[in-house]
Amino acid sequence: MIRKDVIIIGAGASGMMCAIESGKRGRSVLVLDHAEKIGKKILISGGGSCNFTNINTSSSNYISNNPHFCKSALSRLSLPTSSECFKNTE
Ligand SMILES: Cc1cc2nc3c(=O)[nH]c(=O)nc-3n(C[C@H](O)[C@H](O)[C@H](O)COP(=O)(O)OP(=O)(O)OC[C@H]3O[C@@H](n4cnc5c(N)ncnc54)[C@H](O)[C@@H]3O)c2cc1C
Repeated sequence: MIRKDVIIIGAGASGMMCAIESGKRGRSVLVLDHAEKIGKKILISGGGSCNFTNINTSSSNYISNNPHFCKSALSRLSLPTSSECFKNTE
């Protein structure tokens, strides 16, 4: 039997990010996906160029019933922080 600390269902952007963060915390991780290729939606995002982010993003660019969520999320994961995060996963 395979034993893992963390099992993630879905190897999209969210699942892979969770897997990376769990791995950084020393957890053994298993990511499951029913598709034949993982991260398929990432590959079609940005018209095939895999857009990562928009340097001019602000909370005003998001429509939400809770506008404070975007403010909070963007302040916790700023552009420099998220860019650094991806540099470290290369
Ligand atoms: C055409 C298009 C263009 C886009 N362009 C951009 C862009 O330019 N910039 C940008 O930031 N975002 C863009 N996006 C949005 C971005 O791609 C998504 O927000 C992001 O991929 C969502 O990630 P996710 O992990 O939440 O979901 P998903 O990518 O949908 O991942 C979910 C994963 O779970 C798997 N799964 C689902 N159910 C099960 C199950 N029962 N068992 C096992 N596996 C399962 C799926 O196969 C999939 O791999 C675009 C999206 C589309 C469709």
